Amino acid sequence: MNFTKTQTSLASHLECSKCKKSYSLHELQTFATCCNKPLVVQYHATESLDTSDLKDRKPTMWRYREMLPVLGDANIVSLGEGMTPILPLKRLAAQLELNDLQMKDESLNPTGSFKARGLSMAVSKAKELGVEKCVVPTAGNAGGAMAAYCASAGIKATVIMPSHTPKIFQEECQYYGAELILVKGLINQCGALAAKIEKEQGAFNISTLKEPYRLEGKKTMGYEIAEQMNWQLPDVILYPTGGGTGLLGIWKAFHEMIDLGWLSADTKLPRMIVVQAANCSPVVDSLNGITKDISEYTESLANGLAVPVAFGQDMIHRVVKESGGTSVTVSEQEMIDGVKEMAKHEGVLVAPEGAALWKAIPKLIASGEISRSEKILMINTGSGYKYLENLN
Ligand SMILES: *Cc1c(COP(=O)(O)O)cnc(C)c1O
Repeated sequence: MNFTKTQTSLASHLECSKCKKSYSLHELQTFATCCNKPLVVQYHATESLDTSDLKDRKPTMWRYREMLPVLGDANIVSLGEGMTPILPLKRLAAQLELNDLQMKDESLNPTGSFKARGLSMAVSKAKELGVEKCVVPTAGNAGGAMAAYCASAGIKATVIMPSHTPKIFQEECQYYGAELILVKGLINQCGALAAKIEKEQGAFNISTLKEPYRLEGKKTMGYEIAEQMNWQLPDVILYPTGGGTGLLGIWKAFHEMIDLGWLSADTKLPRMIVVQAANCSPVVDSLNGITKDISEYTESLANGLAVPVAFGQDMIHRVVKESGGTSVTVSEQEMIDGVKEMAKHEGVLVAPEGAALWKAIPKLIASGEISRSEKILMINTGSGYKYLENLN
């Protein structure tokens, strides 16, 4: 007799992030057209599901199967993403006299960044709903990830990227068999072309938060943080914010785990700290009540942070405020220095996005936003290897 519970999705429907209008899970969805806001997946999370159920599951993000939106197992497109390690950064902690500094290292995901989580989920759902062609605007890593998962799923892929993106980000997409289109400008201009291709060619557009499932992939970071830290969450989480999907996802996961009873209702949730590039800091600026013209935001070595308009900005604001977090910027030179310091002192070659977090810490200590005795977790979102030729 086999007593293993069947693992099926507890997803119930999608909801407008503003007015809560309900949308069907069984049709292809983009964003909430009622309010022009992102759609968010809802679950029957109160049904019994215990952390002990996780024990014998594979070390990938799919171990949280019930709290993921894919309905049929046959539709799962996986390259082994998730369950990345959380590493103590002892030598760096000592430099700043920090009590507890750790880093979740997302560089170990397929295609070298945490974009693998979101694209594994989005492409799986696209497959489930019969999509034959996907398109994505990207600053770099999302394109490579989408191309890889589409290759694995047998779905056609078109990737639209700024023409200044380093060659390696362009070439990986071509290796994975995607059509690559280069656009002069930043990711928002790529987004405009993606919308056109969506309309004219009937391709499914997997643009950040204009598609509901990348968020569900990225939220698995939140589940892993809790599970790997033995259900004792950190005091603060530093997150390199572009479109903000990962930050929103981690926060969503914490709340789902409270609904599931995996975290107690009075758990003190971490303060969520947005870190952006000084060159392109729309979220930091808007949190500080500053409005700038989009044209003032320029490219960054940390291309994942070169997002001049975040579709989910209201939601990001809500998380930062609800969590008691804050936001801070880091310069291009600081990121370059940070990559080198982390490699030299810890043996980790992180993306400049990840290095930005390390360089943000002294600023946050100086401003009193974090204290040296706290448990601090950095999310290194990608591998530094793809950026090396530009890190001089
Ligand atoms: C995309 C990306 C980011 C930003 O991610 P969001 O969740 O959209 O804010 C950060 N770092 C890297 C390496 C990325 O590729």
